[in-house]
Amino acid sequence: MNSILITGCNRGLGLGLVKALVALPQPPQHLFTTCRSRAQATELEDLAKKHANIHILEIDLRNFEAYDKLVADIECVTKDQGLNVLFNNAGIAPKSTRITATRSQDLLDTLQTNTVVPIMLAKACLPLLNKAAKLNASQPMGVGRAAVINMSSILGSIQLNTDGAMYAYRTSKSALNAATKSMSIDLLPQRILCVSLHPGWVRTDMGGSNAPLDVPTSTGQIVRTICDLSEKQNGSFLNFDGTQLPW
Ligand code: NDP
Repeated sequence: MNSILITGCNRGLGLGLVKALVALPQPPQHLFTTCRSRAQATELEDLAKKHANIHILEIDLRNFEAYDKLVADIECVTKDQGLNVLFNNAGIAPKSTRITATRSQDLLDTLQTNTVVPIMLAKACLPLLNKAAKLNASQPMGVGRAAVINMSSILGSIQLNTDGAMYAYRTSKSALNAATKSMSIDLLPQRILCVSLHPGWVRTDMGGSNAPLDVPTSTGQIVRTICDLSEKQNGSFLNFDGTQLPW
């Protein structure tokens, strides 16, 4: 892959993905990373000083009016090459999870960040993804051509929900999964691959300290999984190790 845009790269899995990608024998030529505040993204800033292929873009993704500038900034760097991969990683999980504690504002905020943002960003990046898909028409479907990777969660799986609760988070990720499916159908003519991905339960601010996986283990596997994606996985829900998950 020549270029990738990853959201939420100042900490957690986003930062881990950036580290895993720059460590590849053939790292992407351009790694566009977003954060809400560059001043607070010290680790990402340090990485960018060491790796000239890392570009940092400051954006609160709920500010949809800023998407045109984000796309223009990417285009300014990649010129007529477009963008190979959009990795929608940024997400939130509200603390209150039982139905008795659920607040409508939590439901709306979580849906906005975890579902509306990835869809609107995919829409905004579509011209760039189309360009890359056209330019790499001889490549098979996958990240070498063009792809949208949506960071979902196993908690968004309706079939695997045995514990209930987590209304805001579960519904936002189930809805994201529905969006992945639609994108995989709508973007098939351009042969742009779309998948939902569960990163495992990972020790981040969101995952908490009891999670079994550390960030490098998850993100190392995710990078291997996305690099191996092919047409047969288009429109599917995958675990970080590449195995299929039920919707
Ligand atoms: P973290 O809470 O550690 O990091 C979340 C990232 O998203 C931060 O960079 C945060 O930026 C960014 N973000 C949130 N809202 C916005 C916004 N409005 N605009 C821009 N950036 C925003 O979470 P993880 O790294 O653990 O999670 C990453 C993804 O993986 C999420 O989509 C999550 O749902 C998913 N996931 C995580 C699991 C886990 O076990 N950790 C399990 C399953 C799924 P800021 O620092 O500015 O808040």
